[in-house]
Amino acid sequence: MQTFAVFIMSAALAGALLYLYWRIRFGPPAKSSIPILAYHKVDTRLELGGTMISPKRFAGHLDYFRKNGYQSVTLSRAVELMRQGESSGKKYLCLTFDDAYAGLYQHAFPLLREYGFTATVFVVTDYAGRTNDWDINWGGLKFGHLSWEQMKEMQAGGIEFGSHGKSHRDLRSLSPEKLKEELAGSRQVMEQNLGLPVAALSYPFGLYNEAVKQAARDAGYLSTCSLSPGIKNSSIDYYALRRCGVYVTDLLWDMKHKIDHDSPWFWLQDLWSRLVNWCAGGTALAKRILHR
Ligand SMILES: [Zn+2]
Repeated sequence: MQTFAVFIMSAALAGALLYLYWRIRFGPPAKSSIPILAYHKVDTRLELGGTMISPKRFAGHLDYFRKNGYQSVTLSRAVELMRQGESSGKKYLCLTFDDAYAGLYQHAFPLLREYGFTATVFVVTDYAGRTNDWDINWGGLKFGHLSWEQMKEMQAGGIEFGSHGKSHRDLRSLSPEKLKEELAGSRQVMEQNLGLPVAALSYPFGLYNEAVKQAARDAGYLSTCSLSPGIKNSSIDYYALRRCGVYVTDLLWDMKHKIDHDSPWFWLQDLWSRLVNWCAGGTALAKRILHR
């Protein structure tokens, strides 16, 4: 019994210290900040990667968002609302999808329509209509990417498309010429194929530095997404927007506290998301070494 009491007290102390660290280092988001979720694959196949969720689970999320009065906006609209100071006290929510996997057309798009939600999908332009050779294929499974035709159909259905670069590289490691090719080049290809201006970008692996941010501005993007920028949550950087990742382990409880910035458990979700993304940064590093 005494051991149990010591265990509980130690856990409480560790929790309190973690909270204190989060509060000082990151803290609560700005009142005007719209929650942005970062999804990856919505598919029925089994994968070990950790970012894939089933269509059934995704439908559960949409059902929860709708029942709780969340209004879905694209990333560009979210940025407009935040810049114009029209987002405070409202229940806006932004759903984003990195990598533009084909499963989104088959599984996520019909559900988004059914529930009356929109989204912003980030495309790796060299891989449109092709399989994911750029990614580490856990268990040897290959996943296709959306074709331009599928994207056009989704675009006509209200989905926004943004760039995720040409070839999913860690942008920090590139020469200025290569960086321009990844950012301006991918934007140009998208605008040619989709026939609309492309305003949003998501950094591969969420990784960036000042040179990458400047290159994104120069390429004409109006906003860009990271995952866990190393700044306080109270300051909004439109060229490194904070997003909360969605993982296979997330319960509806997690989703609730990821998007509710006033929740007493938001800090834990934010910290967890930062830890996972820090590990994803390790994946980017491993790939750089392997490709050398
Ligand atoms: Zn990605």
